Formats: sequence, structure tokens, C-alpha cells
Amino acid sequence: MSIERDSVKHPLVVRRVTVSAVAQITANLRRITLSGDELAGFVSSGPTDHLKVFFPDPATGELTAPTMTETGIVRPDTGVIISRDYTPLGFRSHDGHHELDIDFVVHGDDGPASAWASRAKRGDLLAIAGPRGSKLLPHGATHVILVADETALPASSRWIDMLPTSVTLTGLFEVAEVGGEDYFTPEQHARISAEWFYRTDGLGQIDPALRSLGSIGESTFVFLAGEAGMLVPLRRYLRRELGLSKKQVAADGYWRRGIINADHHEPIDPSDPED
Ligand SMILES: Cc1cc2nc3c(=O)[nH]c(=O)nc-3n(C[C@H](O)[C@H](O)[C@H](O)COP(=O)(O)OP(=O)(O)OC[C@H]3O[C@@H](n4cnc5c(N)ncnc54)[C@H](O)[C@@H]3O)c2cc1C
Repeated sequence: MSIERDSVKHPLVVRRVTVSAVAQITANLRRITLSGDELAGFVSSGPTDHLKVFFPDPATGELTAPTMTETGIVRPDTGVIISRDYTPLGFRSHDGHHELDIDFVVHGDDGPASAWASRAKRGDLLAIAGPRGSKLLPHGATHVILVADETALPASSRWIDMLPTSVTLTGLFEVAEVGGEDYFTPEQHARISAEWFYRTDGLGQIDPALRSLGSIGESTFVFLAGEAGMLVPLRRYLRRELGLSKKQVAADGYWRRGIINADHHEPIDPSDPED
């Protein structure tokens, strides 16, 4: 049986939201909870969904974001638009009160999103747009392998929570240091057979770990996400050496070392004809 993933579209909505809670989950991941009436009707139905998050201009503190009108999206004439992509981790709605969690990797002040997240406090304002669409869980997969760095731990968390227990889950995760594995809850740890690799022990540990999984059957789906350069040899191995079909492998460069606001629609490997 071949693996298929259906997609659904959602109406594009731009929402103004307020920080209602901040929690440090691991040394470099902060959970920011956003609230507000404009979250009414928020829908995210796929594990790899993403939002455009709009941040205040660090120079002025002013938040500039597009607005939706009947004729489409309108960008304001003034102000600086600063946006980055983030995973909607969890959404809750009770008695007309709505909350959305986003987990931010804090990697210093070299990026506006990271700098904002490291200082975020209750009452701060953001805008979010999306998700515009959702890719749903793959049909026909009996085994899912997740390969991720910290930026894709939120998506991995969603995979773990959304997949039925009949699907076997394997994870290879690269994090900064010991303690990064505390990102998952005990229930999530119990659900997935995971290996954790610490950058303090050196880079490039995922490649041999992926190879050591051995042959990968046609009912296995592999999700690869994180730093784009890290993914290049992994996807090449899966597609070229093991010969996995395109539908079995989803590789998404969530960021690229040295590039500001890297576009994840760009090829992760321009020399690869698949890109
Ligand atoms: C579909 C999708 C979902 C994503 N979900 C999440 C999520 O849930 N949580 C999350 O934290 N990120 C997520 N990301 C990644 C996030 O969008 C990028 O890391 C983004 O570049 C961060 O913006 P910034 O303003 O901090 O840094 P930028 O201004 O974009 O970059 C400034 C510098 O920081 C470097 N940099 C960027 N990200 C990192 C990092 N993680 N570690 C070290 N250096 C970095 C860049 O290479 C550059 O040199 C997602 C990306 C995509 C495409």
C-alpha cells in the first residue's frame, strides 16, 4: 500500500493576540501562550502546520502586520513587517477563552524572533496568520520516523500526539545538550522509541544513527526537519541510497545556518534534481 497525505485548506486569517503565559521548557525552548478573542475559530489539523508570526520592530516596539479585507491581504503603507514561521503546538478553547501555545528556540539576539521570545512577558502583543492549510497524517504508514532538531520538536510533539497507537514511532533528535530530551512529557517518551544526540558531543551524529536503523520498508514515512544543511545527507541517503519513494520522505529546512529568515520553500539542496 502506498503512502498518501491529504491536504486541507483553511481561510487565511490574521489575528492579533496577547501573551498570557511564558514557561521555560528546556534550556533553550520557551513556551509562549497566546490568548485573545481573535483566536476564535482557529484550526490546525496537521502535525506539520505552520503560522506566520509577526513581531514588533525591535527599534520602535511597533507591531506591523497585514490585515485581511474582502479583496485579500493588505500590507500597511508604513511600519516594518518582521515575520517568521512557527508551529502551532497546542490550541485550547473553553468558555469563550482561547489559548495557543508556540514553543520558541531561543538562540540569542541575532534574530528578532529569538530576541523577542527571550524577553516575552504577559501582555506583549503579536500577530499571527495561518495556518493556510494542513497536510494531514499519512494514510498507509505503519511506522513513522521523526528526525528533528529543537525547531521541529513542536512538530514532533504533534506527530506523537496525533498518530494512532497502531503506528510505530521512532525518533532521532539533535538537541544542544543533555536535558533537551525533557521537552517531551513522560507519556510522549513512552509512546516513541527515541535516541537523543547532543551537539556538545559533536555535530553529524544523526547520519550514522539513521543508517543504523537498517532497511526501511515501504509502509514507513520519514519526517525530517531542522537546520537545512543537516538534512541534505539524510534525505540523500533515504531517497538515493535506500530508494525510498518521494511520498515516504518529507524534508523541510526549518532554518539555515548563517541565513536570516531562511525561506523553507527554497531547495534544501540546490544540487539535487528533486529540489
Ligand atoms: C514550517 C516551520 C515551522 C517552524 N516551527 C518552529 C517552532 O515551532 N519553533 C522554533 O523555534 N522554530 C521554528 N521554525 C524555525 C524558525 O522559523 C527559524 O529558526 C527562524 O529563522 C527564527 O527566526 P529568528 O528571528 O530567531 O532568526 P533569523 O533572523 O531568521 O536568523 C538570524 C540568525 O539566527 C540563525 N538561526 C535561526 N534559527 C536558529 C536556531 N533555531 N538555532 C540557531 N540559530 C538560528 C540564522 O541562521 C541566522 O544566522 C520553523 C520553521 C518552519 C519553516
